[in-house]
Amino acid sequence: MAIEDFKHLIEAQSLEKKMKEHLDATEEQVSRVMHIEKQREINSSAKIDLESQLSEKSTELSKKEKDLFDSEAKAEKTNEHIPLARNEQETNALQKELDVLNPKIEKLQEEILELMEITEELCNQISEKDEFLKGSLLSLEKIKKDSEIEIHNEEEKIKVLEERVSSLLSQAGENYRTAYLLSNEKHKFNNPLCFVSNSACHICRYTLNQMQATEIEKGEVTESCPGCGRLITPLSAKTL
Ligand SMILES: [Zn+2]
Repeated sequence: MAIEDFKHLIEAQSLEKKMKEHLDATEEQVSRVMHIEKQREINSSAKIDLESQLSEKSTELSKKEKDLFDSEAKAEKTNEHIPLARNEQETNALQKELDVLNPKIEKLQEEILELMEITEELCNQISEKDEFLKGSLLSLEKIKKDSEIEIHNEEEKIKVLEERVSSLLSQAGENYRTAYLLSNEKHKFNNPLCFVSNSACHICRYTLNQMQATEIEKGEVTESCPGCGRLITPLSAKTL
């Protein structure tokens, strides 16, 4: 029974549509996990970057601190020598040294303060990243577990649907089954079957002549729509 064959195909199409919903749900679970993993990756590489900045600034800071320590010791010694100067020339020379050292010390103190602020800020940012990585690891593990269960459930449902579809297809005649599978190669989950309404394909609107339309309605031919390649299905099979 030709119309009966098409009826099986229509049911197979509608089960495959349901299957697609479960496949999408599976996909959603996978992308949920991937999103968190991606966020963790971004934060982890940002943390590495911050740590390398911190190490650079810390080196710079200790260099300047050593420089400050040396310059202050030098200035102290110069100050001690001034009262011991034997003449004005010596006093002037010592004063000149101080004139160079004092602004240098002041500048170093400012730079050190600034570097301390920068390193403190970097430390804060690093601990923020740490917190995120720690917290998100916990939620990632939980979400992974939940989604594994969800995915398993979806897969079970898909398996049942697949079995039903394959049983329906085996009930349809070989010509019909082959034509359906051919249309499915291009249109799986996207209406592999089309109907003729007002002499045109209900999906792509390709117009068929009256003779073709009549033959198709009898259900005795397996014709693909010349416009979209879908298997043209008699309307009467839909209402059977
Ligand atoms: Zn079409």
